[in-house]
Amino acid sequence: MKNILSIDVEEWFHPEAVQHLFPSDSWDERESRVEENVDKLLALFDSQNVKATFFVLGWTARKFPRLIKKMTAAGHEVATHGNSHRMVTKMTPAEFREDLIESISIIQEISGEKVLGFRAPTFSIVKGTQWAWEIMLDLGLEYDSSVYPIWHDRYGIPDAPRHPYIALEKGSRKLIEFPMPTLKIGSKNFPFGGGGYLRIFPLSFTKYAVKKFNGEDLPAIVYAHPWEFDTEQPRLKLGTIQTWRHYYNISRNLRKLETLLSRFEWTSFKDFMNQDNFSQNFR
Ligand SMILES: [Zn+2]
Repeated sequence: MKNILSIDVEEWFHPEAVQHLFPSDSWDERESRVEENVDKLLALFDSQNVKATFFVLGWTARKFPRLIKKMTAAGHEVATHGNSHRMVTKMTPAEFREDLIESISIIQEISGEKVLGFRAPTFSIVKGTQWAWEIMLDLGLEYDSSVYPIWHDRYGIPDAPRHPYIALEKGSRKLIEFPMPTLKIGSKNFPFGGGGYLRIFPLSFTKYAVKKFNGEDLPAIVYAHPWEFDTEQPRLKLGTIQTWRHYYNISRNLRKLETLLSRFEWTSFKDFMNQDNFSQNFR
């Protein structure tokens, strides 16, 4: 069973939790750390011989075209994380369309390959923003991986399916939603395998969860951000809970990911969707 490896490529000053400190017109003046941290990940993936999907911000692609070229040359998939890291919940449909068009066109121009997928900043495809699927399908995307089937203060659709499903279908074209991985315990879904959940929960739990998920014939989707492997990033003053959520276990994260990569099979979304048994179910 193949699982899916994904990285949301953004800077340390882009996440929603810290964005209030860094208005977008100040981003160009900030110290950029994305390149050296993506390089660490590229080296790890190369040593483990795994392919991944990099959801890249249009802003990052424009600034570091070389990074996109490196990902593509190494056989990884480059998809979009939007242009300016704005939550879909904070945009009108017209603004979202414009933001998405901009990111797709810059990434395609650099990579020379068609962008097939999207991950919304802060998993902001929620009950009120499902209109975004129609725009994704119109712009030629084939999948979205933005729904978290949990309750959370910033995101989530607690009763969304836990498995990949057709979000929208128009004629012969389909948009597949790949929800973030959750363990179902009783009637509740518990997140695992990405971001803070990957850093905070013990590795033994994550390994157990991936195994359990695969036992249900579901691919686990691991996701992480380059800044989650960066022990040298500027430490910001956040509240106690935010600090814990944001910085906990960063120093051990690369080792953790390495163990997961060696213990299970991983690939990109694109390669996952190209498998025969997947296309039988969804095309
Ligand atoms: Zn993000």
